[in-house]
Amino acid sequence: MRKIAIVGGGFSGTMTAVNLARYSKDPMEIVVVNAKRPFGRGTAYGTTRSEHLLNVAARNMSAFPDHPNHFFEWLRSRSEFDHLPDNELREMFIPRRIYGDYIRGLASIYLHPVHPDSEVVLKVIDDTVIDILPEEEGATLELKKGASVKADSVLLATGNQPPGSFQSQSPLAHDRRFCADPWENWLERLPNDDGTIVLLGTGLTMVDVVITLSELNWKGKIVAISRNGMLPRSHFRGIAYPDYLPENSSDLNLGQLVALIERHCEKLRQMSQNPAIAIDKLRPHTQQLWQNLTVEEKREFLKRYGTRWNVSRHRIAQSIHHRVTDALDSGQLQVIAGCIDSLAPQEEGISVHFQESNGKMQSISGDLVINCTGPQASFSASKIPLFQKLLNRGLVSCDELDMGIQVNEDFAAIDGEGETSSFLYAIGPLLKGSLWETTAVPELRGQAMRVAQIMLEQKPIQPEKQYIIEYCI
Ligand SMILES: Cc1cc2nc3c(=O)[nH]c(=O)nc-3n(C[C@H](O)[C@H](O)[C@H](O)COP(=O)(O)OP(=O)(O)OC[C@H]3O[C@@H](n4cnc5c(N)ncnc54)[C@H](O)[C@@H]3O)c2cc1C
Repeated sequence: MRKIAIVGGGFSGTMTAVNLARYSKDPMEIVVVNAKRPFGRGTAYGTTRSEHLLNVAARNMSAFPDHPNHFFEWLRSRSEFDHLPDNELREMFIPRRIYGDYIRGLASIYLHPVHPDSEVVLKVIDDTVIDILPEEEGATLELKKGASVKADSVLLATGNQPPGSFQSQSPLAHDRRFCADPWENWLERLPNDDGTIVLLGTGLTMVDVVITLSELNWKGKIVAISRNGMLPRSHFRGIAYPDYLPENSSDLNLGQLVALIERHCEKLRQMSQNPAIAIDKLRPHTQQLWQNLTVEEKREFLKRYGTRWNVSRHRIAQSIHHRVTDALDSGQLQVIAGCIDSLAPQEEGISVHFQESNGKMQSISGDLVINCTGPQASFSASKIPLFQKLLNRGLVSCDELDMGIQVNEDFAAIDGEGETSSFLYAIGPLLKGSLWETTAVPELRGQAMRVAQIMLEQKPIQPEKQYIIEYCI
């Protein structure tokens, strides 16, 4: 019986398992090895807190590219949404834990099949893959607790790396006032209401923390610091705007592309519309546009426009944005633009030293400091044993920006010699350097379906092209 192993049981790994089971015509065993985050839910949908909302409207969150309404229809099976008309439910930003229930539920169909003739066996192992050893046919996965798994094909669906900065600062390693991983349980360590919480970073993770503190009615002071001090923007109601990329878009260099986008941003402003519409309209083309750029252009894009892109593209639900704005307006939340230099534990809190844009050094003391700086960016500098082993064995190679690994158009890993692997595949955030837009469900559901079909040696079914419009028209 054919056996496929999947490393990682978040959205990407789970939905690949579901699609393998869905499309397999022969008996097959699928083994998902997953650690740390709950199977089926992963980092994003493993939260148990109801105030953590999806940052994509329900209509765009189907787990299947060939069934665009699937999540919406599934929501209709839940009584708490009965009172909402279709058009409202489709635009809703649902709690992420409910989305986790959806994905976990899809996996359950195959974990515990009710059909007596089901020939696909899906197993989940709660463990960490620490090494992959190639065999004459397929490979063996070595697991942290000592077991091993043999498989014909292996998929890496390991998601984002944990935060990279401020990890190995030894004086803080065992300091309960410092939370290196924002997904750890820091609620038990909340200071009193006269205390200060310092958040390192001002992105989506920081927003999660601020919203939870508001939900808990915590009254202390929150200070968030990042290099640019820019906060995620809000989703909005927009207009139907035409696709504006010219036919020869593959010939455009970065300068021409930026000029084109800026022209449309300006046009939208003149129409009293949100310029982020110009970014959203690029979504179906972003991967291709990224791949057309030279490596120097990609570097320049990341340096000059990366932050602006992220705040415009990765927006938050309006209700969440209002809560953050309220915290700012009330003075509870202060946002500082500064480059964080070091953290030093003191008797009374942890000192966060940072440099302001004028070069002046400043510091602020936190009773609790939470690292919200986002995932480790460099693949080669990763401290994750599996990644180090894969690189040392030459089973994978870093992409040209060292943000992840190289794969071919069928998601097969390119090894250290530049050869295509016969058994190892990867999808998800590991492909960020190669594809740029590869971290959210609208892209990942397509990858999960295509890689499943490729591993099954079936011709990938191309679902009808969907236009993912993030704003509400
Ligand atoms: C807080 C947050 C909110 C988000 N909200 C949205 C949203 O609303 N809409 C949207 O489209 N996208 C959202 N995203 C993007 C999100 O990254 C994707 O939607 C998706 O969840 C990524 O899934 P994944 O399986 O690739 O990664 P993950 O969810 O990170 O799953 C990877 C899993 O693999 C495990 N793993 C890693 N290495 C190993 C190993 N060696 N051995 C065993 N297990 C391993 C991890 O522990 C984890 O369980 C959000 C992301 C975050 C972080």
